[in-house]
Amino acid sequence: MKIILKNLTKKFPSRSKKGADVTAVDNFDFEIPSGQLIGLLGPSGCGKSTCLNLISGLEEPTEGQIFFDDEDVTDLPPENRGVGLVFQNYALYPHLTVMKNITFPLENFKGDKKMSKLEMQERAYEAAKLVQIDGLMERRPSELSGGQQQRVAIARALVKTPRVLLLDEPLSNLDARLRLQTREEIRRIQRETGVTTIFVTHDQEEAMSISDLIVVMKDGKIQQIDKPQRVYDDPKNLFVAKFLGTPAINVFVGSVKKDRVFIGDDEVMKIKPQENRNVYIGIRPEGFIPDENGGLNCKLRAVEVTGRDKSIVSTHYAGIGETIRSIIDSDINIDESAKEVRFSLKPNKVYLFDKETEERVDFEAAKE
Ligand code: ADP
Ligand code: MG
Repeated sequence: MKIILKNLTKKFPSRSKKGADVTAVDNFDFEIPSGQLIGLLGPSGCGKSTCLNLISGLEEPTEGQIFFDDEDVTDLPPENRGVGLVFQNYALYPHLTVMKNITFPLENFKGDKKMSKLEMQERAYEAAKLVQIDGLMERRPSELSGGQQQRVAIARALVKTPRVLLLDEPLSNLDARLRLQTREEIRRIQRETGVTTIFVTHDQEEAMSISDLIVVMKDGKIQQIDKPQRVYDDPKNLFVAKFLGTPAINVFVGSVKKDRVFIGDDEVMKIKPQENRNVYIGIRPEGFIPDENGGLNCKLRAVEVTGRDKSIVSTHYAGIGETIRSIIDSDINIDESAKEVRFSLKPNKVYLFDKETEERVDFEAAKE
């Protein structure tokens, strides 16, 4: 089932008396394709949870509509929307067994949906098998690890065979190893069930690894909707470029002068002529080539060896961040006692952004 958001907006009154309203979700207008896993990604406070709560019906929109396929669900109460919800804190009932926790949502079914105890238990086992906790059905939450508790919460969300699965930072309370494992599980379960899923996270790596499509948000506004690789390779603006990628993209202030790109006074790239303008220049860590004739002249700080590759830490007076991090092959030799290191650049790893709007500026590298 696909989900369509039409001009969806949510404003909250300011928490202080004089302050302006907060627009937590600003005019969202896009379609979530059926059967896919969508990552809602952005920093804390950008409106991810609010967006999810609008879709589940826990919040009412200020404006706009929500459709599940052709059905307008905007005014439908949450319990009639057929959504499964999983939150960061698993919110299990501590006094109930795993079995009872999972069957709980089924107990409330009325009329022709009402189930016998046996039916409920069968359904619970099916859901528990999916998340591989069917051996723990008689335990109580306190007897489970965090990862197991979160699986119970996922089974409880799946047991109603929801039309949509909504996950709000479901891995945040897990330690690093479990986080990895559980996110792979979620991906597998989503593939197996084919349920349209929205996965909220502030962790770009998590979103990249799990999503079919990423929605990048900032201050209640959509920045970009694309496949993970595309968001990385083809960021629409400086914010998106900075938000995705570890180590992060390196940002410099510079300028375009006709057919040349400058970082500070260093001429770093020849391009097809375009209008002069001031720019931010973003260079991915893998975009630097150590080259004694290279145009970018940096102060060398350190060379860190990770085994698979080498990381050169340097600085440049026109750099925005504290240091510049470039990643190169481990077999390239760098004189660590040198004061400076020069780079030429891989044009497909270089991005220009207008200094005023911070929107991406296209360019074509000139052939040497
Ligand atoms: P996220 O989940 O991305 O961290 P939220 O959706 O929780 O962000 O919040 C988005 C913005 O809306 C924040 O500025 C937050 O303070 C505000 N907000 C969220 N819920 C309420 C509320 N019930 N009342 C007032 N402001 C709220
Ligand atoms: Mg949130």
